[in-house]
Amino acid sequence: RKKLFNEVQEAKGMVFCRCRPLSKEEMAAGCKTVVDFEAAKDGCLGFLTGGSTKRSFKFDRVYTPKDDQVDVFVDASPMVVSVLDGYNVCIFAYGQTGTGKTFTMEGTEQNRGVNYRTLEQLFEIAKERSETFSYSISVSVLEVYNEQIRDLLATSPSSKRLEIKQASEGCHHVPGIVEAKVENIKEVWSVLQAGSNARAIGSNNVNEHSSRSHCLLSIMVRSKNLINGECTKSKLWLVDLAGSERLAKTDVQGERLKEAQNINRSLSALGDVISALANKSSHIPYRNSKLTHLLQDSLGGDSKTLMFVQISPSDQDLGETLSSLNFATRVR
Ligand code: ADP
Ligand code: MG
Repeated sequence: RKKLFNEVQEAKGMVFCRCRPLSKEEMAAGCKTVVDFEAAKDGCLGFLTGGSTKRSFKFDRVYTPKDDQVDVFVDASPMVVSVLDGYNVCIFAYGQTGTGKTFTMEGTEQNRGVNYRTLEQLFEIAKERSETFSYSISVSVLEVYNEQIRDLLATSPSSKRLEIKQASEGCHHVPGIVEAKVENIKEVWSVLQAGSNARAIGSNNVNEHSSRSHCLLSIMVRSKNLINGECTKSKLWLVDLAGSERLAKTDVQGERLKEAQNINRSLSALGDVISALANKSSHIPYRNSKLTHLLQDSLGGDSKTLMFVQISPSDQDLGETLSSLNFATRVR
């Protein structure tokens, strides 16, 4: 544990793979598990592909269906500490719809996820350091749907299109977006609720809509060193990505086609950016999607990235699981 903590804190990028349990419905339908976790503690995942060949994938960490929200957060928390040390950080959940992206990031009220635990930890550390530092924490909640940004904390729906601008000091921001200052964890919960309620507005099927849009929680941390007066600003993005599944051929028309194309485009843009960074490429294609453009300051440079690749254990999802595992291999 201690070793992993140091590794995560020193690393620039990490990929964790999390597999959800087989659901009751899948069990009732006789679905079989196609993953084995024999070497999970070494970060290895065995995966049975079509012709019963076993392939093995390596990650920085593998979570079995038995691992809970605390097990996951313990490993993600060094990234959170880095934010208070002045780093920009991005944490993503990637995967097919129904594999637990929202469960990992948002969680439930009884079983809170990374978003809530992150803010809880930020407040705790800020308190521990309060003799030397004064911190101010604010949050924004946005959604990217069909290459358009929506402010989920805006009190009145704005007709104005939200755009990404580059400030003089090079930082990217969205002028006009609500930044809610939060003083304690109680306030956070109500802000997160407000954001998730706003997501439902204007969509007739909330689950379907959320599987086709990216939901982003941005946390701004401003710190002032009370001894030397030095100020720093860092940003943490917590991103619940749109479902990575390919559309059924029968569905490929009209609005659904456009949505699917936008999702493919932004997820592959994300993969391209992360692998270009990993390969130290001279050109990083941030501008190919709203998602990567928005996250630009927290991808690359001095920033840190953590990707949760979420998978299903079921034989029915074999194809999608393989494609997620391949995506993860590409960004690692
Ligand atoms: P996604 O956001 O990827 O579409 P969800 O987070 O909505 O998927 O998860 C789908 C279902 O599986 C939910 O009912 C969720 O509670 C359950 N689930 C996902 N991951 C886990 C897990 N690790 N342990 C228990 N239940 C899980
Ligand atoms: Mg979801």
